Amino acid sequence: MERLLSGIKPTGELTLGNYIGSIRQFIEMQKNYESFIFVADLHAITVHNDPEILKERIKKLVALYLACGLDPKENTIFLQSENLYHTALSWVLECNSYIGELNRMTQFKDKSQGKNNESIGCGLYTYPVLMASDIIIYDADVVPTGIDQKQHVELARNIAERFNHKYGETFKIPKPVIPKVGEKIKDLQNPTKKMSKTEENPKGYILLLEEPEIARKKIMSAVTDSEAIVKYDEINKPGISNLMTIYSTLTNKSFAEIEKEFSGCNYGTFKTRVADVVVELLTNIQTKYNEIINSNLVDEVLNNGINKVLPIAEAKVKEVYKKIGLGR
Ligand code: AMP
Repeated sequence: MERLLSGIKPTGELTLGNYIGSIRQFIEMQKNYESFIFVADLHAITVHNDPEILKERIKKLVALYLACGLDPKENTIFLQSENLYHTALSWVLECNSYIGELNRMTQFKDKSQGKNNESIGCGLYTYPVLMASDIIIYDADVVPTGIDQKQHVELARNIAERFNHKYGETFKIPKPVIPKVGEKIKDLQNPTKKMSKTEENPKGYILLLEEPEIARKKIMSAVTDSEAIVKYDEINKPGISNLMTIYSTLTNKSFAEIEKEFSGCNYGTFKTRVADVVVELLTNIQTKYNEIINSNLVDEVLNNGINKVLPIAEAKVKEVYKKIGLGR
C-alpha cells in the first residue's frame, strides 16, 4: 500500500477552503493509502502566536480532523513537534538546499511582500525545507494538497533527488495530489484571491466552526456578476464559478449538471442551495466536533500516532546521518 502524508497548520481557524482543498481529499483517500496526517504546529510558529491560543488550536485541529471524517483506524494522526526527527532531518536538508531555490517560492514572496528584510523571520524563508523533511522522512508516496502547496512538494522532490544523487538511494520521491475541482477555493468577497483564514474581511471566508447561519449570510452576500446565468467561467464569472466549485465538491455534481439544475434560475435561488449544502456540512461537522473536543479521543489518537511514526523517522534520520558521515 502506498503511503500518504499531509498536514495543516494550526494557525487561525480552519476554513471551507482547507476542507475542500485538503481534508476532503484525506477522507476520500484514507481507505486506499497508509495515511499519515499531522498537525503542522512547527509551521505555525513562523509568525507570532499567543502560546495559550496555539495550544488550544492544536487540540481543535485534531478534533476537527476527526469531526470531518478522518477515521483514527485508517489514519495515523500525530503532532509534528512531538517528533524531533523532523527538525533533525530538516537541518541536513537545509545544507543540501540553495538560497536560489528558496527565493523562488511564491508563498515566501507573497508573505514577505512589502516588508522590510529586517522584520521577516528566517522561519518564513526556510519552512519549505522543513516541509520537505516532513514528507520525505516517511518516504511518502503521495501528498494531497491544495494548489498553493504544489511548489513546496516539488521542492521536496528536488531536495530528495539531489540527496539520493549525492549519497545513494535514500528517499522516495513524493508526488503532489491536487484535487481536480476545488484546488483553490476563492474569497467570497474577492473571488480572484484564495479563501484564507488570515484575510482581514471575515465576509470573504467561511470557518468550519462558525455559526452555520452566519455562513449562510456570507454565501448569500458573495460577490457575483450581473449576467444572472449560472455558468462556469472562471475568467468572466469568478464569483459564480467559485460558488459552483463549492457546490460541486460538496454534492459530487459536475459543472454541466449544476448548469442544467439551475438553468433559468436567478442567483438568489442558486445561492440558497449552495448555502443549504454548506450549512448542512458545518452542522454535521460541528455536532461531531462538540462530542470529540471534550473527550479523551484527541489524546488517545495523538499518543497512538506518535508511537507509530517515531521509530520510522528515527530509522530514516540514522540512515541519513550514517550516509553523510555524522557521528562516531
Ligand atoms: P494551510 O492552511 O496553509 O496549512 O493549508 C492547509 C491545506 O489546505 C493545504 O493543503 C492548502 O493547499 C489547503 N488550502 C488552504 N486554503 C485553501 C483554499 N482556499 N482552497 C483550497 N485549498 C486550500
